[in-house]
Amino acid sequence: MNEVQPLVRARNVQKSYGDNEVLKGVDLDVMSGEVVVILGPSGSGKSTFLRCINHLEELNAGSIMVSDSQPGYVLKKGRLQRLPPRKIARQRQKIGMVFQQFNLYPHMTVLQNIIEAPIGVHKVPREEATRYAKELLATVGLSDKADAWPGNLSGGQQQRVAIARALAIRPELMLFDEPTSALDPELVGEVLAIMRNLADQGLTMIVVTHEIGFAREAADRVVFMDGGVVVEQGPPGEVLVNPQHPRFQTFLSRFI
Ligand code: ADP
Ligand code: MG
Repeated sequence: MNEVQPLVRARNVQKSYGDNEVLKGVDLDVMSGEVVVILGPSGSGKSTFLRCINHLEELNAGSIMVSDSQPGYVLKKGRLQRLPPRKIARQRQKIGMVFQQFNLYPHMTVLQNIIEAPIGVHKVPREEATRYAKELLATVGLSDKADAWPGNLSGGQQQRVAIARALAIRPELMLFDEPTSALDPELVGEVLAIMRNLADQGLTMIVVTHEIGFAREAADRVVFMDGGVVVEQGPPGEVLVNPQHPRFQTFLSRFI
């Protein structure tokens, strides 16, 4: 029984806000080292799904398991119960997330932004956290900005810092929610290039984006979500070239 286990295993994930059924049973496995790009129209539940993976939302049904840790939810006496906060925190420590809005702390320098979680949450010694932060700043091409204030950086630079900050906790999984959507067009490329590098290095990534070029070049698998379910998925060379589902065909036709 040497079956390879997925790093992420989402089963029948359902999530509602009041009467609004946003996720209607999402199933998704992500293997270690895989780069999955999620495409889909606005409002289809992509951000909600990422937040569920990162335990920023409680599920109404289903389960999400990350790594070999226990699912965030257990069924007890027929009722779905959330794991104790301590166990959820342990699972979240393996996940880094990058948002459309960079969400850097404006009152902290770039370096302070990056070392805050490793020191505060993960109890990494300050020297070690600082050393690794500088390594990460080199990775995102910002070695000279360690002492800069976020407000003095371009949007592209701020997003690269946000990526370094997410990487600082040495995540097993990185979630990107439209990381280039808030950027001026001329700054999109520098952020996608960093993400492309991370993908090439074998980081496990789930990326929500409208950058079809990135999906084509960097994704191992493209997942099309619509109406709160996964409608179609497959290798970019297949599904982007020859989408089967009419809704996916319509969606992609906008980009041609
Ligand atoms: P996408 O990222 O694909 O554009 P979202 O997951 O952001 O879609 O949103 C899907 C639906 O869920 C939308 O109808 C949105 O209004 C609703 N929604 C998202 N977050 C919340 C929230 N915190 N409270 C209430 N409704 C929400
Ligand atoms: Mg969204």
